[in-house]
Amino acid sequence: MTRPLRTGRALALAAVLLAASTIRLAVTDRWIAAAALAYGTLLAALGACLEYRAHRRTLAQHERARRRARGEVPLAPLNPCCSFWLASDGAAHGRGCTRLPADLSLAEHQALAETADGGQTV
Ligand SMILES: [Zn+2]
Repeated sequence: MTRPLRTGRALALAAVLLAASTIRLAVTDRWIAAAALAYGTLLAALGACLEYRAHRRTLAQHERARRRARGEVPLAPLNPCCSFWLASDGAAHGRGCTRLPADLSLAEHQALAETADGGQTV
């Protein structure tokens, strides 16, 4: 279980509890409190979605590292390949980037990726 999965489950549970409380308040005609809890429900649900996405990315990164350690054919880069790519609009890439640079050989890219992973292959 990854940290994002644990957090995502906690946020999903919070969203369910907040939704139930929202319904309870709405039934008893406490509309202002119900609106506030509905807003909290949406935030918790959004956070859960983002954490589940982070969990899926972590699993994909681990699968890539596992295949790289076995010497198998590298997979296609993740989309987005790294956070720098998003921030720089495709102009720069971070150390943990999953995109294979065109100017590096496969062995050089693997060495760079192992350095970026801190030498850990899960
Ligand atoms: Zn990148």
